[in-house]
Amino acid sequence: MQNNNISTITIPKTHPRYRSLLKREKIVAGIRAGITSERGLIAHGRGEAFDYLIDEQTLPAAMIATEVASALLLTADKPVISVNGNVAALVPEEVIALSELLNAPLEVNLFYWSETRVMKIREHLERHGATITNVLGDKADARIRGLGIEHARARVANDGIYTADVVLAPLEDGDRCEALIAMGKTVITIDLNPFSRTSKYATVSIVDDIERAIKNLISIVEDKKKKKKDGWMEEVAKSKNYDNAENLKEVIREIVARLVIRSSPLS
Ligand code: ATP
Ligand code: MG
Repeated sequence: MQNNNISTITIPKTHPRYRSLLKREKIVAGIRAGITSERGLIAHGRGEAFDYLIDEQTLPAAMIATEVASALLLTADKPVISVNGNVAALVPEEVIALSELLNAPLEVNLFYWSETRVMKIREHLERHGATITNVLGDKADARIRGLGIEHARARVANDGIYTADVVLAPLEDGDRCEALIAMGKTVITIDLNPFSRTSKYATVSIVDDIERAIKNLISIVEDKKKKKKDGWMEEVAKSKNYDNAENLKEVIREIVARLVIRSSPLS
């Protein structure tokens, strides 16, 4: 039997909640390594609660959102992938793989900005295979408009998010998402909470766990890249008329349907 030992405790693979526990350990290890904020623990716990409601599986509506997101990212002029402390702790290899497939830089982009934490996340990404040229965010020399210039959470890189047309911002904050949309950007988010302001404001919200969503994005992008562009341009056209609010309602209907089954007297 194989075990996984990320931090101080060993989780047996046979544990019924193995995958969930492993994610917790990655977040704890992230905090110990100085790359994840302690508040990141709270955000993760909120995500876990929503993941329980969907049986820790990708919903059909989330898969549709992921398809649309892949088309938008592949046809972007300047896509950027935003990486915060939770993203770096949970899916470092996956975001690097996606960044290479899309030719989109990773930008270390923190709500609780500190130069030390940016450097630690950069080093962490480099240890997982990122190259110096595809990680931005050291300087954070521009400000998202509309958030108040004094606010640390407004900081972004001028050659990254500030000038990007499409931003993949997983686990993003609602205010920042709203401000990026107001700047005219296409924002794709990954957030397990369909009621969060981020989910509401984003152009495309993928209501799924970050690990599952990024893996799905990678395989869809790989598939699309193998096909001739003509084959999926129709999808891109459709994605321009994508209705995020309707997709979120569908997510909520799918959650309700699961709850109805579970609460029925015969279940
Ligand atoms: P908002 O500012 O958008 O209203 P919030 O303040 O409730 O949201 P934040 O702390 O800003 O939440 O962001 C964390 C969000 O990330 C939460 O909504 C949580 O559901 C989500 N989240 C946490 N962990 C994961 C994960 N592993 N996968 C996907 N989403 C996650
Ligand atoms: Mg918030």
